[in-house]
Amino acid sequence: MLEDEARAIHDRLLTIDTHIDTGAGFATPALDPGGFTRAQVDLPSMRAGGLDAGFFIVYTGQGPLNEAGYAEASQAAEDKYRGIERMLRGYPERIGMARTTDDVRAVAASGRLVGLIGMENAYPLGESVADVQMWADRGVRYISFTHFGHNQFGASSNPSTANGDQNHDAGLSELGRALVRACNDAGVMIDLSHVGRRTGLEALELSRAPVIASHSGARAVYDNPRNLDDAQLQAIAGAGGVAQMVAFRSYVGDVDPAAGKALMALRTRLGLNSGAAFQKASPSLLDEYAVERTQIRAAHPDVTLAQFVDHVDHAVKVVGIDHVGLAGDFDGGGGVQGWDGADETFNVTRELLNRGYEEADLAKLWGKNILRVMDTVQSMAG
Ligand SMILES: [Zn+2]
Repeated sequence: MLEDEARAIHDRLLTIDTHIDTGAGFATPALDPGGFTRAQVDLPSMRAGGLDAGFFIVYTGQGPLNEAGYAEASQAAEDKYRGIERMLRGYPERIGMARTTDDVRAVAASGRLVGLIGMENAYPLGESVADVQMWADRGVRYISFTHFGHNQFGASSNPSTANGDQNHDAGLSELGRALVRACNDAGVMIDLSHVGRRTGLEALELSRAPVIASHSGARAVYDNPRNLDDAQLQAIAGAGGVAQMVAFRSYVGDVDPAAGKALMALRTRLGLNSGAAFQKASPSLLDEYAVERTQIRAAHPDVTLAQFVDHVDHAVKVVGIDHVGLAGDFDGGGGVQGWDGADETFNVTRELLNRGYEEADLAKLWGKNILRVMDTVQSMAG
């Protein structure tokens, strides 16, 4: 297909990335999404790459299951939310917030980018689900129950040795079952990404509405606990949901060991060995890190966009075109060579077209599927 034709198709599509993280100081002068930044996603790079919409994430790392831990997590979630809010309030002429699928279409039709909100890790809710409605009112449209490490709601696909987790998935807790009901009632999509296999299947079974995986790959293509095996994909699809394949190097394929080692050495040298260190780092240190990381990746064989699309192909083969979508996990560790930021979003469309997908298929992968699920979940609320 000619480049012009592919670009014309890409421009007609409503493209949604279902998982975009935000760095420390997001939407302050330290990291202003109104201009090009070191981040993989900002408003100009979304425009440049033809990425129309994104779920921006209220993310919290997993800490101890006690009052102090919950309080700290609640503050961290608040900080993330405030950053997203600052972006939406700061650039109302360039990006509009969407709470419903009608909003998504209306904002896109107005020529603006579309901002949606998801919550990654329900940990900050504490030992109650009372705040689910508050977060839904603030615009949160999906909640991933866990992150790395088990929590009060259930097991993670990646138990945390630092937190003393057992390497065992005991399923949803009583509180986890309450969270399923609270999400259903509030019209919030339940997200099985990061959740342990048994915990996820129990949530899916209990949920009266379809569920999603907001950013996970296909385990049959690359065996990693963060990915979904065929039975999990089929369970999600069978319940009417959607699995968003994630372009995250180390879940897509084997990262070159020499590149991994060089990156580790870089982080050690810059004192960036933990999520907390990244949150506290100065803008100039983060700039330095970003520049050197790019150099390291360029100097070694990288996991590619073609490998990522292999996951999409597999998922489509197993569950059909109506149950698969796309996620970058940008600014949260995501990216592959060829789709390493919002500015390269067209490359995904071109690769899918080269593999024989039609425009109507692309419309589903890029947005229609997730919007269908979002709509169904909201219509089943209450
Ligand atoms: Zn994640």
